[in-house]
Amino acid sequence: MPQIKHASRGDDRKQRALKIARQLAKTYADAECALKHDNPFQLLAATILSAQCTDERVNMVTPALFAKYPTPAALAASKQADVERIIQSTGFFRAKSTNLRGMAQALVEQFGGELPRTLDEMVTLPGVGRKTANVVLGTAFGLPTGVVVDTHVKRLTRLLGLTKNIDPVKIEHDLAELLPKSEWINFSHRLIHHGRRICNARKPNCPECPLLKICPRVGLPPLSTELPRSTRRSNR
Ligand code: SF4
Repeated sequence: MPQIKHASRGDDRKQRALKIARQLAKTYADAECALKHDNPFQLLAATILSAQCTDERVNMVTPALFAKYPTPAALAASKQADVERIIQSTGFFRAKSTNLRGMAQALVEQFGGELPRTLDEMVTLPGVGRKTANVVLGTAFGLPTGVVVDTHVKRLTRLLGLTKNIDPVKIEHDLAELLPKSEWINFSHRLIHHGRRICNARKPNCPECPLLKICPRVGLPPLSTELPRSTRRSNR
């Protein structure tokens, strides 16, 4: 007798993930990486600087950094104190300066001054973890090596019921299972935009959210209790 297949929770989650990806694509068709850059090397340097720092702040210091050190060879030959002075306002400037210079030296010595194009090679560079490698390989080269999981993606994917994990690598694994590879790069960009514009960490603007119909709002109180009395009455 043929067996009737019932949709599993995993299937439901996959369907929801695809609907979310489609809605995000409609809402944020032009979402791009917010870090200003003209080439893959600049994007890598800016992403290293973005640790524990806003993209806006990074964009304020990178023009001077890139003007003085336009190539990996120039940055590799830089002085630690000079780089520290330029990037000081991004925080953790000593460690970041060491990483930037180490990254540039490794590019020159091990990769002929070019960025490598695999995740395994990228994460050998100083200051480059999985997230940074995925950002650069996805944005600069269009290579979907993984799904970028930053603080916005981490928070939103839990609210959207796409993962129960809190470890970024496990979240990335969950998203890679739910989404086709063709969505990996843009999904993160768009979700990060959404986290900044609508699904704010302090107060998600659910009533205005284009994902409201498909979002289970995991961990948030029911929407009606958040609305002002007058709005509650008019919604009956
Ligand atoms: S409905 Fe609310 S919790 Fe869900 S994504 Fe939108 S703003 Fe965030």
